Amino acid sequence: MTLIPVPAFTDNYIWVLHDGRTALAVDPGDAAPLEQTLDSLGLTLQTILVTHHHADHVGGLARLRQRWPAAPVIGPAGEAIAGLDERVQDGDRRQLLGQSVQVLDLPGHTAGHVAYFIEAPSDGCAPLLFCGDTLFGAGCGRLFEGTPAQMQASLARLAALPGSTRVCCTHEYTLANLRFARHVEPGNERLAERERHDQALRAAGHPTLPSSIQLERDTNPFLRCDQAELQAAACLRAPHPARDGTPLAVFTALRDWKNRF
Ligand SMILES: [Zn+2]
Repeated sequence: MTLIPVPAFTDNYIWVLHDGRTALAVDPGDAAPLEQTLDSLGLTLQTILVTHHHADHVGGLARLRQRWPAAPVIGPAGEAIAGLDERVQDGDRRQLLGQSVQVLDLPGHTAGHVAYFIEAPSDGCAPLLFCGDTLFGAGCGRLFEGTPAQMQASLARLAALPGSTRVCCTHEYTLANLRFARHVEPGNERLAERERHDQALRAAGHPTLPSSIQLERDTNPFLRCDQAELQAAACLRAPHPARDGTPLAVFTALRDWKNRF
């Protein structure tokens, strides 16, 4: 199985997983770059997965459905998205490209956001997670429709996945997220290491993704709200009464802080 991030717009990736003949694509906000990739590799589109309703994730659906009418579009049961063939929710499984794909409900960025998890890819490689705009490299999505408690619970579910899980999120936000992460947790040496590594990747024109769940546990401040350094930073920043230092209060303060950073 081959995994490809197809760049779209300014900083989106449309993830493609293929076996040399057929492919599945995740969150095709724009049809053109995806079609170009499929055509250049001689791939047939088998299935489209959608994580949530935002335009930069679904904008290519109409054109792709015309071109590939046999490829079902699978998306979240809880969101109004035109052109879905199958609506899925937490615990559902689909057999796609010979892979068992599990659906996880992850409310927070939007109310009905889902992710797709392949725990045991048939090629024996590490698990795969397509998590849309929930977990980003060293960051997390904005709370457009959900509460901080919902988003934190969703991120906790992802953090509990196997550490080797490859994290395929939809935006190349990693370097900007790392600047914030270094600001709020300057004592974390893994962060400095990651920043050097990811800066070199971007300078060479490569994506910083997929990352891994273990790397996110070690460096993503939104998964580290129980760490003393982050608690102290958030308590200084947060308005009363969020100064109780609970992981939820720390998360809420960090998310608000990042919005203004
Ligand atoms: Zn979004």
